[in-house]
Amino acid sequence: MDENLDWVRLQKALAVEAERGYSDIQGKQYRFSEFLCLSLGKPPKSIPGKERDRWYDLAQKFAKYPEMSLNQRHTMVISTRNFLSQQKTLAVTNSSPPPKPKQPRTKSVAAETKASPYSSKPVTLDQALYTVVGIGGKGSYLERLGLYTVRDLLFYYPREHLDYARQVQICHLEPGETGTVIGTVKSCKCFNSPKNKNLTIFQLVLRDPTGRLTLSNFFSGPRFANRGWQESYKRKYPVGSIVAASGLVKQNKYGVTLDKPEIEVLDSAGASIESIKVGRILPVYSLSEGVPADTVRKSVIAILPVAEQLKDPLPAAIRQGYDLIKLQYAIANIHFPSNQDILAHARRRLVFDEFFYLQLGFLQRRQLLKKDHVSATFNPTGELITGFQELLPFKLTNAQQRVVNEILADLKSNTPMNRLVQGDVGAGKTVVAIFAILAAIQSGYQAALMAPTEVLAEQHYRKLVSWFNLLHLPVELLTGSTKTKQRREIHSQLETGELPLLVGTHALIQDPVKFSKLGLVVIDEQHRFGVQQRARLLSKGQSPHVLNMTATPIPRTLALTLHGDLDVSQVDELPPGRQAITTAVKTGRDRTKVYNVIRREVVQGRQAYIIFPLVEESEKLDVRAAVEEHQRLSETIFPEFEIGLLHGRMKSADKDAALTAFRDRSTQIIVSTTVIEVGVDVPNATVMVIENAERFGLSQLHQLRGRVGRGKDKSYCFLMSSSKSPDAKQRLGVLEQSQDGFFLSEMDMRFRGPGEVLGTRQSGLPDFALASLVEDKEVLNLARDAAEKIIASDPNLESYPSLKKELEIRYRRLMGGDILN
Ligand code: ADP
Ligand code: MG
Repeated sequence: MDENLDWVRLQKALAVEAERGYSDIQGKQYRFSEFLCLSLGKPPKSIPGKERDRWYDLAQKFAKYPEMSLNQRHTMVISTRNFLSQQKTLAVTNSSPPPKPKQPRTKSVAAETKASPYSSKPVTLDQALYTVVGIGGKGSYLERLGLYTVRDLLFYYPREHLDYARQVQICHLEPGETGTVIGTVKSCKCFNSPKNKNLTIFQLVLRDPTGRLTLSNFFSGPRFANRGWQESYKRKYPVGSIVAASGLVKQNKYGVTLDKPEIEVLDSAGASIESIKVGRILPVYSLSEGVPADTVRKSVIAILPVAEQLKDPLPAAIRQGYDLIKLQYAIANIHFPSNQDILAHARRRLVFDEFFYLQLGFLQRRQLLKKDHVSATFNPTGELITGFQELLPFKLTNAQQRVVNEILADLKSNTPMNRLVQGDVGAGKTVVAIFAILAAIQSGYQAALMAPTEVLAEQHYRKLVSWFNLLHLPVELLTGSTKTKQRREIHSQLETGELPLLVGTHALIQDPVKFSKLGLVVIDEQHRFGVQQRARLLSKGQSPHVLNMTATPIPRTLALTLHGDLDVSQVDELPPGRQAITTAVKTGRDRTKVYNVIRREVVQGRQAYIIFPLVEESEKLDVRAAVEEHQRLSETIFPEFEIGLLHGRMKSADKDAALTAFRDRSTQIIVSTTVIEVGVDVPNATVMVIENAERFGLSQLHQLRGRVGRGKDKSYCFLMSSSKSPDAKQRLGVLEQSQDGFFLSEMDMRFRGPGEVLGTRQSGLPDFALASLVEDKEVLNLARDAAEKIIASDPNLESYPSLKKELEIRYRRLMGGDILN
């Protein structure tokens, strides 16, 4: 390796390892950990002396990688990725001219276009595409992609790139890689397929000093079956001529070859390649039906020189501070980069922009909101809070105490609080919320707590009632199934101010609900509510403080990005004494064993959940599965136990009854669909069985698992799955090894995408053209940092007029004209 340390390959190995769930993947030659150990053990010569020790240390750590827990592996991979990108800049600045990778000679795309004889009339950014020489009539194809002006097309980034820039010798071709072979034509044939009259086969045998390669292309249709066409096609590749061939290397039964090769005959061995498709890094654009790929590529080439006219709105200080290349240069190189390194820089700059303008918009909006609204100020140290602290049978964890302090500090001020509390299942978020609620009440204000389901609202209500009774405070529950008479009573007590706290579901946002002095709104599982619903609850007070809670915790910057103008607090520590839940993936064959564990636990006085997935489209089917399974289990498997049933189609009162029976231990096992998912708290339950576990996402499984392990007893979670899909197995395997909600939600986003995990629509997650919220976390952090700095010094962007203008355009486009939350 030495000086030729392949940074890209190393980073790729790290990325793939992350994607595959830190399983220490086996490569062609080495395992991941071995490859890293070897590569890091030989730092490039350009790395200065004292830095080299860090490389050796890291190499040693990778030797222990196979014994590490998933969490430790995750941390290792992330820190190594960061380490390498820092070291790379060191290496680049240190090494006198970097060794040029061997590359077939291609003409620079920009140079080619500039030399065009038509370039006398300069093309401008806002010019219509069909008026550009070299595009003309093809403009109508581009319009089908929503591209009308030169600027539109410049900002139409490729979906991916095929790397044909690497020149490979025939003996080094590796299936799955892309590259270009330069060789001499040994033979060339063009003939009708003996098996299919409609198919014409073109076959070229190439040779270079290291071997022979047979390339084939296929043409279907009568036009090509004609001898004359075949002869003339063959004549393009005379024996003895030199050709360059690019493509994806694949293995077939005769050896390796290139799939659908792009071939160009060169004038001589050293001649430049003319074709836009051979020997370079080729952009691949998203197309719609009937738009030819080459049309888009050629049109981009026609306008690429216009990129120079772009003005970069990003202040130079930021560009330099964050090591970003100029916009003009980034745009030119995102399309037709001359090497991978420039492509990476171009992408980094454009990803930064996508995040930066979004963050800038959020921060600016948040400043405005704070300025325009005045909330009540609450006393953080009154008698209710003191009383509650005395009643608490446990000590707050450090994390809880920290978050309580953050909240109380917010509530002291008259700028509205808008805070998100993230915490794993069981981290004790409810207690934290009670502090906020009591601060409001002891300052003479009312509070509301809204939860997404009746089950959850009822659960919160129960907890709160027990505390509130001790504090001699009234609290009521309002849901869709509250009786009319009681509902009226609640309405009137709210209006008079007698009732200080109301807990409930969406019922809280209905019109007749009027508070006398609503000062605080707590929203549990906030991502389950729409923007409108949240806004309606807020409108029932005068700029009330808002506390949002979620049990699907995600990294902080990501949360800030997704939730826009919220502050974020994390309860990132579990109360002491929690035991790890033994988790195992089981197939149908293990069922008897699983039932035996249930039986053993129930006999010892504990309880069990058996969950059936609820898939929206087929709710009926799933309910049937649950109902039938309930019957089977009660009659044939556990006739000696009482088994409850809970599903979404039951009447609210029946659901209540089923849960109450389970809580009171009159049923020992409960068969349920996922209505049980959030927040249900029965500490005596120690077994969780999840059927068809492969149908759930990781975060959801983690939530379900969190229903057990709430008491002092050892708990078990069985993930039943007979799925053969390697993806499903891998995903479930991650749960066997980790109980960390932050880690799991991140993995879940890798597997399913952030939109699936967090609900794109409701979180208002924008569609990024290039950026990935999971893969580009580092750039996301930088962008956040940059945006914070700018807004802190100049909230109205007075001294950055072009930035201000760009922000207006970008922010509107990103959010589809709508703003989050
Ligand atoms: P979640 O964050 O999932 O909403 P809860 O607020 O429901 O968690 O708390 C889970 C359980 O842990 C509850 O029974 C609660 O009383 C208990 N609990 C909360 N904080 C602590 C603590 N600091 N020490 C011990 N137990 C705690
Ligand atoms: Mg909770």
